[in-house]
Amino acid sequence: MSDARKPIFIAGEWRPGSGADMPSHFPGDGTLTAVVAAASRADAEYAIAAGKDAMMAPAWRDLKPHERAKYLYAIADGLADRQEQIAQTQTRDTGKTLAETRALAASASATFRYFGAALETLEDDITPARGDYLTMSVHEPMGVIAAITPWNSPIASDAQKVAPALAAGNAVVLKPSGWSPLVCLELAKVIEAAGLPKGLFSALPGPGREIGDALVRHEHVAKVAFTGGTSTGRAIARAAADKLMPVSLELGGKSPTVVFADADRAQAIAGILFGIFSSSGQSCIAGSRLFVERAIFDPFVEELVACTKALRVGDPYDPATQVAPLITREHRESVAGHVGRAREEGGEILAGGDALEGTGYYYLPTIVAGLDNQSDTAQREIFGPVLTVMPFDDEDDLVAQANDSVYGLAAGLWSSDYRKIWRVACRLQIGTVWINTYKQFSIATPFGGVKESGIGREKGRLGIRQYMNQKSLYWGLSDNPLPWAGPA
Ligand code: NAD
Repeated sequence: MSDARKPIFIAGEWRPGSGADMPSHFPGDGTLTAVVAAASRADAEYAIAAGKDAMMAPAWRDLKPHERAKYLYAIADGLADRQEQIAQTQTRDTGKTLAETRALAASASATFRYFGAALETLEDDITPARGDYLTMSVHEPMGVIAAITPWNSPIASDAQKVAPALAAGNAVVLKPSGWSPLVCLELAKVIEAAGLPKGLFSALPGPGREIGDALVRHEHVAKVAFTGGTSTGRAIARAAADKLMPVSLELGGKSPTVVFADADRAQAIAGILFGIFSSSGQSCIAGSRLFVERAIFDPFVEELVACTKALRVGDPYDPATQVAPLITREHRESVAGHVGRAREEGGEILAGGDALEGTGYYYLPTIVAGLDNQSDTAQREIFGPVLTVMPFDDEDDLVAQANDSVYGLAAGLWSSDYRKIWRVACRLQIGTVWINTYKQFSIATPFGGVKESGIGREKGRLGIRQYMNQKSLYWGLSDNPLPWAGPA
């Protein structure tokens, strides 16, 4: 570790923030990686003011869409060139495996490229006129966007907000989680090298209750794009209501995965393990509630438990590792607390159920049985490597249990009967349904939740419209005055 406090990127300048220091520890052994001189409320206000000015300056405002797109392509190229550096930093910051952080860095680059292309190809509308006029509907930038992101996949969730918001012509102030302050600074380096006009982008690591709150309440922030926990999302929505400001909220989940008796067993087991235990379960779409058709419940769960016990838990830099550490000691204690609650509720721990001995914040992949869907363990988001397994009898029983959750983010269905899959997929109150696969993502496919999993959609060609205001224009075509008020 270098002794220097890391500066942050405030309105196009690298300087120490005037907030409290923010340390980043390597979750693999708890050692200190770096200390970031994090942002203060004053830094946030400065970045917002600079963003507002930069966004209105002719150098940005007057660019044609294809000219703005060049910056997005340059950022995409920069992210691709620095992919390895970004992945290494993110693994150090979050403890995720290198294989995963490499994929996340690649996806961030693809996101900027995609929204550059979307920007160049989106068209405004000439709408059908109903009088002697021509009607048009055009889209304009909103202003300064506050992007507030969590720690679990920072470079990807940062890109999913920053790319469409810049493509739409806005300025962006990005506030990452205090548990992963380093990755956003890598993104800032790339954006600076791409030559984006100063002030259009700031990266402000800092505490959520101070910097996040300052961004949400500021009069010149036109929209908040948030990914994080449901209780934080609710607090942001309340503050946004006071300003009547639009928000998009990507929140928590407790996603059901369903195995019918006719499923391909090997595929289902691989998909379930990946769905819950990759990223050590620290994933909004983790398939944390498993429903298995009663006729195959016992043998299926027995095989799943054996495969879970064989997962390789270890150093995130080791290519053989499948399950890496959790982000912090505090988070591991939270996961352990949930497993303790599962025991109290009468749950039977079929695998794991303990932290791993030694340094680092490891927790063993855990399977809980013997609880029903009403239990705390099946209802609360644990955000760790903990799977609850439950039987179901028929389609009606399954749909009722799967939908019995405050969340509605994602689901996985495993079956070889496409008619049954279609019926069930249509009945689930869920934003994304994976069928005979799980946790696959395309930037071209919209993503978001229903119920307490969120409001709004990210990604997809129209994702850019989430950061634009729509304006309608009526062009009079008549040679005569309007009849009601015209000359006598
Ligand atoms: P969190 O809600 O604690 O924090 C998210 C961000 O909000 C951080 O940057 C934090 O500093 C900031 N924040 C905290 N309080 C704030 C406030 N009062 N005002 C403004 N900002 C504030 O979430 P987390 O622990 O970082 O992330 C885990 C959660 O994120 C899980 O619930 C997970 O399901 C969810 N998540 C959802 C998605 C999705 O796409 N739906 C993706 C990833 C993570």
